Amino acid sequence: MEPQEFIFRSKLPDIYIPNHLPLHTYCFENLSQFKDRPCLINGATGLTYTYAEVELTSRKVASGLDKLGIKQGEVIMLLLQNCPEFAFAFLGASYIGAVSTTANPFYTPAEVAKQAKASNAKLIITQALYVDKVKDLAKENGVKVMCIDSPLDDFLHFSELTHADVNDIPAVKINPDDVVALPYSSGTTGLPKGVMLTHRGLVTSVAQQVDGENPNLYFHSGDVILCVLPLFHIYSLNSVLLCGLRVGAAILIMQKFEIVKLLELVQQYKVTIAPFVPPIVLAIAKSPDVQRYDVSSIRTVMSGAAPMGKELEDAVRAKLPNAKLGQGYGMTEAGPLLAMCLAFAKEPFEIKSGACGTVVRNAEMKIVDPETGASLPRNQAGEICIRGYLNDSEATERTIDKDGWLYTGDIGYIDDDDELFIVDRLKELIKYKGFQVAPAELEAMLIAHPNIADAAVVPMKDEAAGEVPVAFVVKSNGSKISEDDIKQYVSRQVVFYKRINRVFFTEAIPKAPTGKILRKDLRARLAEGLANE
Ligand code: AMP
Repeated sequence: MEPQEFIFRSKLPDIYIPNHLPLHTYCFENLSQFKDRPCLINGATGLTYTYAEVELTSRKVASGLDKLGIKQGEVIMLLLQNCPEFAFAFLGASYIGAVSTTANPFYTPAEVAKQAKASNAKLIITQALYVDKVKDLAKENGVKVMCIDSPLDDFLHFSELTHADVNDIPAVKINPDDVVALPYSSGTTGLPKGVMLTHRGLVTSVAQQVDGENPNLYFHSGDVILCVLPLFHIYSLNSVLLCGLRVGAAILIMQKFEIVKLLELVQQYKVTIAPFVPPIVLAIAKSPDVQRYDVSSIRTVMSGAAPMGKELEDAVRAKLPNAKLGQGYGMTEAGPLLAMCLAFAKEPFEIKSGACGTVVRNAEMKIVDPETGASLPRNQAGEICIRGYLNDSEATERTIDKDGWLYTGDIGYIDDDDELFIVDRLKELIKYKGFQVAPAELEAMLIAHPNIADAAVVPMKDEAAGEVPVAFVVKSNGSKISEDDIKQYVSRQVVFYKRINRVFFTEAIPKAPTGKILRKDLRARLAEGLANE
């Protein structure tokens, strides 16, 4: 007899998803209904582009990219803080069948170089502030570098793309399974790798959120969505920019998070939708400044990318009484949204604090016992698996089984009301304020140090960041290396959130006979406060 499978689906009915369309066509499908409405607002300057302007500029950029020699299937890297040019470049690339790999502009030159080389980027679009990080790539690897702000000698300027002739866009045939975005993620194990998100995958994900009679996420063309989360992360690219474009909302772009500026913008532009991550929710819950501003326009506060506890949810509810607050649960490899809070539906459902939502429409979820592989019933925690609409790519193959189930590496359970609760993480990944830190990357760096014999990196709980990376280190024979030496050695090579927070010296790293680090043991040592023993 086949073992019983417990499969969970959305409470909302499945929808028609036009996932044969290229992503840009899908996003602008309803353009005629809102072409004169504001589309992108630059929060720093107040400069506003209408939908018609954004669509036209993106097509000009497509033509300009073609003129520069970027071909279908080739990769451009967006090394940008949030700005309208990010959207123009991403959409422009989509029009000609090119692929955008998105990178954090705070990366060190070595981190940028690694991603640029791995993705084989032909062009890097960046800001004057960051050109120094890519100068060598331009010199040594012949990568073209383009600046969006100040015109600089030796580098291309974005105006070359925006002034291109829109009639010159090459006629390319885009297959729905062509890749359009290539964000980097370490997935369940190892080093960060490119996740091949296709037109079909992203169209499906956006549709699951905002299409249909009673969508999971009820955005409409009268909404003003705050875009403060970095667009280089798939959460903001998908659930803010692409979902916003699809419904015709105004997308208010903030370069970076700063609480008072954020409150000013919410008041000035009457923001209605606020997609956040837990550290921003925490800042709002704790900030005395919130009382000084009118934030009553906010209807929806979503949080995702990292766990948000019930206490924090309740604290921020008290600060924003007019807003519905809830979580979404995503993962870059999943395309990326797996679950979304139903309090955001047009006909809202009651939800519980601490839940990560219910599985999105047109998908199936199951919870699996990590030891036995058995499918578990309600209220029992196990590894969360999803199938139904996934991006079909090599990069994700390793985590997808023969029946199409993607194993997330997250531990959770589904309760009697179909709500998903995440309780732990099986995979190595560390999340600092929602940013990914791959232990394997830091371990490789540590082991490369002549005074370090072995090392393991695990997450440690932290109130402000959620988690921070800490290292267990075995010194080489006779080495006098100190905690500070190690921290500085790593800091010089990585972006701020990958910095080692603490170093614990130890005699040996616990390992399985296969050589696999027993991270659970190290996490348990941290939890018991025995790290130094
Ligand atoms: P990323 O690919 O950077 O989006 O990271 C995905 C991972 O972030 C997931 O596999 C989870 O471990 C974590 N994550 C995302 N959303 C949530 C959430 N709402 N609650 C808890 N963890 C989350």
